Amino acid sequence: MKYKFLPMLMIASMFVVLTSCDKKTKASTDDFQYSVDKFADIEILRYQVPDFESLTLQQKQYIYYLNEAALSGRDILYDQNCRYNLCVRRTLEAIYENYSGNRNSNDFAALTTYLKQVWMGNGIHHHYSYDKFTPEFSQKFFNDAVKNIDKNRLPLENGQTVDKLLEVLDKVIFDAEFLKKRVNQADGADLLLTSAQNYYENVTEAEAENFYNKIKNKNPNETQPISYGLNSKLVKENDILTEKLWHIGGMYSVAIEKIVFNLEKAKQFAENEQQKVVIDKLIDFYTTANLKTFDEYCIEWVKETAGMVDFINGFTEVYGDPLGIKASWESVVNFKNIAATKRTETISANAQWFEDNSPIDPKFRKEEVKGITAKVITVTMLGGDCYPSTPIGINLPNANWIRAQYGSKSVTMENITEAYDRASLNSGFAGEFYWSDYERNIVKEYGSLTSNLHTDLHECLGHASGKLMSGISKDNLKAYGSTIEEARADLFALYYIADHKMIELNLLPNDSAYKAEYYTYMMNGLMTQLTRILPDNNIEEAHMRNRALIANWVFERGKTDNVVEFKEKDGKTYVVINDYARLRNLFGELLYQIQTITSTGDYQAARQMVEQYGVKVNKTLHAEVLKRYKELNLAPYKGFVNPVFTAITDKNGNITDVTISYSENYVDQQLRYSKDYSFLGKNM
Ligand code: ZN
Repeated sequence: MKYKFLPMLMIASMFVVLTSCDKKTKASTDDFQYSVDKFADIEILRYQVPDFESLTLQQKQYIYYLNEAALSGRDILYDQNCRYNLCVRRTLEAIYENYSGNRNSNDFAALTTYLKQVWMGNGIHHHYSYDKFTPEFSQKFFNDAVKNIDKNRLPLENGQTVDKLLEVLDKVIFDAEFLKKRVNQADGADLLLTSAQNYYENVTEAEAENFYNKIKNKNPNETQPISYGLNSKLVKENDILTEKLWHIGGMYSVAIEKIVFNLEKAKQFAENEQQKVVIDKLIDFYTTANLKTFDEYCIEWVKETAGMVDFINGFTEVYGDPLGIKASWESVVNFKNIAATKRTETISANAQWFEDNSPIDPKFRKEEVKGITAKVITVTMLGGDCYPSTPIGINLPNANWIRAQYGSKSVTMENITEAYDRASLNSGFAGEFYWSDYERNIVKEYGSLTSNLHTDLHECLGHASGKLMSGISKDNLKAYGSTIEEARADLFALYYIADHKMIELNLLPNDSAYKAEYYTYMMNGLMTQLTRILPDNNIEEAHMRNRALIANWVFERGKTDNVVEFKEKDGKTYVVINDYARLRNLFGELLYQIQTITSTGDYQAARQMVEQYGVKVNKTLHAEVLKRYKELNLAPYKGFVNPVFTAITDKNGNITDVTISYSENYVDQQLRYSKDYSFLGKNM
């Protein structure tokens, strides 16, 4: 389950300036409005869907219903993230839409910002730091506002009074200690009791681990292990642990029924028979909740590579569960970007060469790397845990045995990264944090290219490389598994992006282009990703821990030779790389160690590595980075609005065309989704 997507691998790319070549091909889109909204630490962007018009009518119809299915599970994620989220969102929306007091007051403005944050986090916690949002409006204002709107507009449940509702919400919104963190990864604490997520109720970490270990131990030598616990909530009632399964007839039924309804519609327009098989398996899974069926679905999904259109829809990634067992609901609908896919096909075609030459212990190399498909996609809809914050690459399925036997599908979402790049053209970031014009120029020239290539190498080869010793599973590394796995994939990419093979394969133009990626990676890992951490906090999120781990480790190892150093100029700190070739060797050395930890399931080594290099923050540097970043007035996090797809129908209701529009703003989109796709009960 730890093999997967990388939300924000491309922090660096967010600040990358486009090359002249990119500018040429995108000249016609210069007047497109990429930046849509800005609040708190968030900027909302818009992405384009190039070439949608050139799809066939059938493909557009197929996409249209898959898009609808992608939006139908929205409420599931809110409830998974925290049991009060839907109630909070609906109450805030009711105030926003019906408040008759002074809408120009500071309190109302603060409530609007808070609501925008809740939409961005799919709940009351930050999507990335997992910290609870701090309301900047007063409790009195909130209570008065709730009391002053029509009761029927509030999410009151079973005769609940407004006072009772407020009693709950006042605690949830204003008590800073209550539900403080969505996913707590702090070493030593009970990870479930200290996390606000809604995957477990009244269950301790030990009880949950015990519960699932017992199931696993019944079949210790299972060669096709089921992803136990993936699609359920674990609840303790009267001292008995039970799983509440997510399926039609079970928990989240109404939303799942809508998803299935739209999948049925989509199926009529599938491009080939295999796509129909995939949809049937998924519907079967949504109906029965049988995890064996889920694996069968994953296998059929991996096999389907012939069509232009593809999708992810379901309980997929486990980052939201501190134990990494339970999956959040997400969806992405997309079609193939043919030109850009050629780049990743080249990488995949040479997968075995990369594996055979990898700087790891030869006994951990895969004799045969197979089943890697790689493509660049154009996203048409983001849903669930991929919205508004989205990954820029996805590698699925997560079950190791399926990946080993059937391979995986790996995609990079180029219309999303393009939106990042375009929006950051004039950010001022490079001017503030890059050491000199040398770094600025090399990143300007090659940054976009190398950052796409890094993503491709990470997704297509990095996660797929290496093998585990027999009896070892990804679960051995427990809470450190995600960080170690991301480090493994990143290091694989960092090591190879500097290889002369890149020039041989025509992926990079020369032997120094890779330096753009090295510079942005090191600067980000050592310094600038700290813009995402609040003062006095540690690094929690797996991808950030991974980047800090890599950057700090090579920094320390290279100290005696001064490979990378911090330099000061006018009281400001800069990252300077003095020896790029030696830096590459250090990435290789670390990859050797990380692969060994993974292959042998060495929990203690993983823990030591992550805790020593990936968690702690240099407070002085942190404060400086925050100050400089603040002065740039940039939002460290980005979210997206989706385009609006409209089905044009004839008098019989048949779709004759699907049009696309980019005019909807963030608030209108969220309110529309809450109106049209709000399928789960009021106070769940
Ligand atoms: Zn990854």
